Amino acid sequence: MRDIIARCEAKGLRMTDQRRVLARVIGEAEDHPDVEELFARAAAVDPKISLATVYRTVKLLEEAGILDKLEFGDGRARYEDAERDHHDHLIDVSTGAVIEFVDPEIEALQEKIAARLGYKLIGHRLELLAVPLKKAKA
Ligand SMILES: [Zn+2]
Repeated sequence: MRDIIARCEAKGLRMTDQRRVLARVIGEAEDHPDVEELFARAAAVDPKISLATVYRTVKLLEEAGILDKLEFGDGRARYEDAERDHHDHLIDVSTGAVIEFVDPEIEALQEKIAARLGYKLIGHRLELLAVPLKKAKA
């Protein structure tokens, strides 16, 4: 597990019990939960945790650069550990499913574009919004 708690402490964040619960929930997430989902998972560990606490803590972790905020075009912000290995997202807008992918050609192309514009690429975000291809009729 990526140690989010240690990273929070290194940033000087005061880690209360509830913040620890949330940090653990985030560290264990393999998907892209929104705040309500993080609240549900945290509340399963500590029923006393409130949605407001989860909102505040998520905002704090985002500002500290520990969490990445993702906008997938449906108005719901999702979150993931900022230190997760780099990947891009394809969002199935018909179901909200999020598929992670890495494409070496896209990575290389982006570096080329940045260089052409006189920059060295230090990061990027790519979100593909998509609907499933219609299956051909038999
Ligand atoms: Zn992701």
